[in-house]
Amino acid sequence: MTQPAPVLPPAALAAFELIGRTGAENLELRYSDPADDGDDGPVVWMAVARYPVTIDLSRPSAPAGRYRFEVDAAMNPAGAVLRLAERLIDGGECTHCHRPTIFDADPLGAGPLDAMGCVYRFDPELATYRRTCEGNPRGNRAARRARGER
Ligand SMILES: [Zn+2]
Repeated sequence: MTQPAPVLPPAALAAFELIGRTGAENLELRYSDPADDGDDGPVVWMAVARYPVTIDLSRPSAPAGRYRFEVDAAMNPAGAVLRLAERLIDGGECTHCHRPTIFDADPLGAGPLDAMGCVYRFDPELATYRRTCEGNPRGNRAARRARGER
């Protein structure tokens, strides 16, 4: 059965752009509906990122010009995108500060994670994910004061 076009919350929409920052050249949301095959069961959503295969200098004979794919799934479109972003970001290395990267869709999630690495946290004011190493991920000083924070 055809599913309605997904409407993503801002954190999932921004995760689309974040996945693009990992080098993906395409990201699609797909679903599998068992009803199409006459079966019971829930609709499963998948986020599929496509990466170009570049020349691997350790294997010069490896084919270039092809793709590799990264996929994650959930019971709703936003969950699929957020899971894929988390899997792609967590455990990487920040190209700016060289600390381990951590994905956090919770704009108020500051805390222990920040001491463990460079957190890519959703900033609702800018509708994007910002790195810990680029400054306060919860906004600038004026914005924090406006919220009554120090
Ligand atoms: Zn960093």
